[in-house]
Amino acid sequence: MQVVMAFDQGTTSSRAILFDHKGSIVGIAQQEFKQHYPQPGWVEHDAGEIWQTQLAVGREVLAKAGLTADDIAAIGITNQRETTVVWDRATGEPIANAIVWQDRRTASYCDKLREAGHTGSVQAKTGLLIDAYFCATKIRWILDNVSDAQSRAEKGELAFGTIDSWLLWNLTGGRVHATDVTNASRTMLLNVNTCQWDGDLLELFGIPDSMLPEVLPSSCLYGESDIDLLGAAVKLGGAAGDQQAALFGQNCTEHGMAKNTYGTGCFMLMNVGGEPVSSKCKLLTTVACGLEGANQYALEGSVFIAGAAVQWLRDGMQIIDSAPEVEALAASVPDSDGVYMVPAFAGLGAPHWDSYARGAIVGITRGTTRAHLARAALEGIAFQVADVLDAMKTDSGMPMKELRVDGGASANDLLMQFQADITQVPVIRPKVIETTALGAAFLAGLAVGFWTDTGEISGIWQTDRVFEPMMSLDEVNQRRNRWNDALGRAGHWEPAS
Ligand code: ADP
Repeated sequence: MQVVMAFDQGTTSSRAILFDHKGSIVGIAQQEFKQHYPQPGWVEHDAGEIWQTQLAVGREVLAKAGLTADDIAAIGITNQRETTVVWDRATGEPIANAIVWQDRRTASYCDKLREAGHTGSVQAKTGLLIDAYFCATKIRWILDNVSDAQSRAEKGELAFGTIDSWLLWNLTGGRVHATDVTNASRTMLLNVNTCQWDGDLLELFGIPDSMLPEVLPSSCLYGESDIDLLGAAVKLGGAAGDQQAALFGQNCTEHGMAKNTYGTGCFMLMNVGGEPVSSKCKLLTTVACGLEGANQYALEGSVFIAGAAVQWLRDGMQIIDSAPEVEALAASVPDSDGVYMVPAFAGLGAPHWDSYARGAIVGITRGTTRAHLARAALEGIAFQVADVLDAMKTDSGMPMKELRVDGGASANDLLMQFQADITQVPVIRPKVIETTALGAAFLAGLAVGFWTDTGEISGIWQTDRVFEPMMSLDEVNQRRNRWNDALGRAGHWEPAS
């Protein structure tokens, strides 16, 4: 067996990546698929198209690498989280389009749940804040809006799954209806303390338990793929939600280790060990990847606009032609000359949670140039991440020794250095920044003995560069105070409707 295959099923594309025993990439194939926006605030995917593109890239990557299914030790799945599929058990056909995590159609239902006083009990059971983001209200919507769905669900005719379950079902020709525990923890139906589906929550949402997949560890033998799909039966050894897979791919397997992904937005996760930590700073408690029999937990905080601020400089302001250009432009000035940019274009996420905040640029003078704006945009990304990092330190009661980074914008050295400076935490960028797919590969490879233990995979993870904090504490405090002032100007800008 030469390789492990990761299925990286994302929001806009399906990818398949082959990793060899050293964790090096042997092949990649990728296909985009269609986004459906039937109404403002609604986002749907055709689950059939997700499966077809995923299978196609699996076949393509093997052909490109000149390998066959017999060369694959196992497949690991990582996926866009919270996206909800309901299908007919008899035919395997979805009864509606998948409702994507970004979809806001159930926001008013969530308002009603909050008004009815469910916030505390839902948080205590699930570790989540009630939001349209998670699966429970999306399932409810499908059961309410597809004819006969509720009665068919009650008769046991329908199955629910996140994308991992949907792929496992299709890979096994409907023999396996399972989900991994990290994906299950994003449904708002899992009790994170027991890692079991919660009867009270199922009752609250009117969801029959016959719809639910079996909850399994992230690294275990889920089954084997049907022979005719890839040309031989391949073991299915791992599954995890994308952010949890990245945490594992970054080797953050010990208490207190954290990673931050700099993409369109930012996702920071910190491993908090074998017991869930409930947040007082508006972070989420979520299940992290553990090996069989050993649950692990994480705190999670997300920033809505990070790399998207750079996209705005490129597409909205047109002061750069490509995202990477922002670094040279920002580096052409020694500092932002007192300019602060709060990129709250879509409100503020953790730990502020202000949906009425809007973007602000303050401190502009006659001397301000596009270079200062570029610098202020990068710093605005880093300040937001620093606020999440502080919340993690407070909630976990642990100092943060280092922050491991990945995602498109982690290639930006100036941003990474400023991140280290402003948080006073060393920032570590690994050589392989495909950490999500690597995490899924690790999970699957460990389940089948391709890698023997986490000690072996920690030897695979390699540092590309360490950014040590260099700014004086006085300056850090002064800059962060000014950032807080700027946040105050951006907060609650939009009148509440
Ligand atoms: P996603 O998975 O959310 O699509 P990626 O990890 O592919 O995101 O990263 C793309 C994001 O990173 C874009 O928002 C882009 O503006 C930003 N980005 C890419 N390269 C750089 C760079 N060198 N400096 C700053 N931002 C960058």
